[in-house]
Amino acid sequence: MKFADRIEQLPPYLFAQISKKVAAKKAQGIDVISFGIGDPDLPTPRHILDALIEAAAEPANHRYPETEGLPEFREAVARWYERRFGVSLDPAKEVLSLIGSKEGIGHVALCFIDPGDVALVPDPAYPVYEIGTMFAGGSAHTMPLLEENGFLPDFDAVPADVANRAKVLWLNYPNNPTGAVADIDFFERAVHFAKRHDIAVCHDGPYSEVAYNEYVPVSFMQAAGAMDVGVEFHSLSKSYNMTGWRIGMCVGNPRIIDALMRVKSNLDSGVSQAIQRMAIAALDGPQDCIAEHNAIYQRRRDRVVEALRKLGLKVTPPKASLYVWAKVPDGMTSAQFAERLLDEAAVIVTPGNGYGPHGEGYVRLSLTLPDERVDEGLRRIAALPALA
Ligand SMILES: *Cc1c(COP(=O)(O)O)cnc(C)c1O
Repeated sequence: MKFADRIEQLPPYLFAQISKKVAAKKAQGIDVISFGIGDPDLPTPRHILDALIEAAAEPANHRYPETEGLPEFREAVARWYERRFGVSLDPAKEVLSLIGSKEGIGHVALCFIDPGDVALVPDPAYPVYEIGTMFAGGSAHTMPLLEENGFLPDFDAVPADVANRAKVLWLNYPNNPTGAVADIDFFERAVHFAKRHDIAVCHDGPYSEVAYNEYVPVSFMQAAGAMDVGVEFHSLSKSYNMTGWRIGMCVGNPRIIDALMRVKSNLDSGVSQAIQRMAIAALDGPQDCIAEHNAIYQRRRDRVVEALRKLGLKVTPPKASLYVWAKVPDGMTSAQFAERLLDEAAVIVTPGNGYGPHGEGYVRLSLTLPDERVDEGLRRIAALPALA
């Protein structure tokens, strides 16, 4: 059989290569500690699970959901945006449920990208922005995220002809993998740039609730004019330890929401209503769990940063996100450093170049493993000779 080019063009899944190495170590009886994937180790809070158990018994929830989501879910999202960001959304036209935000991020390319079209994509970045673009027949023009610019893209560096052709601008703050954050002023510059070149903005914001030391992330939708040009993808996954339940939302410009709803209504049949009930309980319910989880991540973050600095790496503690992004010692590549940690300490970190060429020279450590595993991993790292 002959596969489509889009299958041939797919890069190997970043964590697949790492999984292979881990499997090989495990086969030798070695206990590998992984700071790899960002998937909260803590359970979904009890009051959210209770909503699922109750909803599962209701026959109305056994049937097909509507693609756009229950009105009650969309209203809960609108209430949460109002409370959390002071952003008003019309639940009927400006909110859409997603089967996890990754689903919407991948599918939204079909709303904008025709064969040959261009999307502006950060480098390094979550891989789905570029792959969704490729699946739709387009290509990415990458915008380097440089440490000296606070890992924010420089819109002036995008050539005018590329900016004029581009259909979509992808942004993601708090950022995966760099842990960088953006303020409203930056988002307003993005809106201005998008309006000047007639580009839609897709902001991916799943880490807005994962933040440290009193830092409170903002929403792209708080920027003046954001509603005219863009949408924000959000997710219950990271905020409420719900990665396994698959629910997220897209909010913002009603024309984009409508286009994405029409694409989705031809591909999927929405999010299980019982899971939408979980999301309503999460968004409307007590929010103490967020501060509790962040306190746990913050302790892990501080210990990870200290251990990496002792080893000779340059690290800025992130203000938000689940990731520590660390510069590997001079003279080493990301892959060499990651390989060395795996071989000498049986510790997995993600090489930064897996997120794009400008991730070279960095590694990412996720904070989503149990405290005792973090401690054991850091003990092993501390036992290594200093690298710089
Ligand atoms: C985790 C993550 C997502 C996807 O989350 P879902 O579980 O699909 O809602 C989207 N974007 C980034 C940058 C992420 O790190």
